[in-house]
Amino acid sequence: MTKLYEKTEQIRKEIQQACLRTGRNHEDITTIAVTKQVSSKRAIEVIDSGIIDLGENRPEGLLEKQADIQQPDLNWHFIGNVQSRKVKDIINEIDYLHSLDRLSLAKEIQKRASKTVNCFVQVNVSEEQSKSGLTVEEVEEFVQQLKQYDKIQVVGLMTMAPFTEDQEVIRSVFRSLRKLRDELSSKKLKHAPCTLLSMGMSNDYVIAIEEGATHVRIGTALVGTESEGEE
Ligand SMILES: *Cc1c(COP(=O)(O)O)cnc(C)c1O
Repeated sequence: MTKLYEKTEQIRKEIQQACLRTGRNHEDITTIAVTKQVSSKRAIEVIDSGIIDLGENRPEGLLEKQADIQQPDLNWHFIGNVQSRKVKDIINEIDYLHSLDRLSLAKEIQKRASKTVNCFVQVNVSEEQSKSGLTVEEVEEFVQQLKQYDKIQVVGLMTMAPFTEDQEVIRSVFRSLRKLRDELSSKKLKHAPCTLLSMGMSNDYVIAIEEGATHVRIGTALVGTESEGEE
């Protein structure tokens, strides 16, 4: 068994335990391997360990991985900020966009997409300057405005927790996002079912699952970083 396979198993176990604790079904949780810091070779190893969802945060990284990894039945997630001029390069190559945060981006997607794009609206719950995303207060109006773009389907909300050791701060951020998701999904908007929650990374995915995450985005804890070298 490779070390990577063990890591995947370990994470799978922790996810299952978090689900057991909170009465959730682990099949409702998608683990996205964030491969932005590793080679295609490493990404293929993680696929071999049973992961079928991959996340990249730069257009170049996404296209490079896709060229190298010729496997069908993978789901590609774009999780980074995307400049409007780069939309055309990636928008028809991905299954989910996790970083919809402005109308100008929505407009560009409408122009360039050849089919409906599943989008998460990115929310900056903690309102840190360094993070992109809408404030909690801005989200509802933004989602309503997206109705004019029929290529956009708002499948859920995404956030990144602040960098802090304080688990309760992290938990409260995830809880706020879930509450916002619940409010939006209860409106039953045709263009915005908004049932999914993309939250939780290497350091906080267990808390995220306890608070309702449906998609966790795990990089370093799963695939490591290239600087760690080959194993
Ligand atoms: C890099 C990244 C991740 C993964 O982070 P890790 O801490 O390595 O798990 C998740 N989400 C986004 C948006 C990222 O940019």
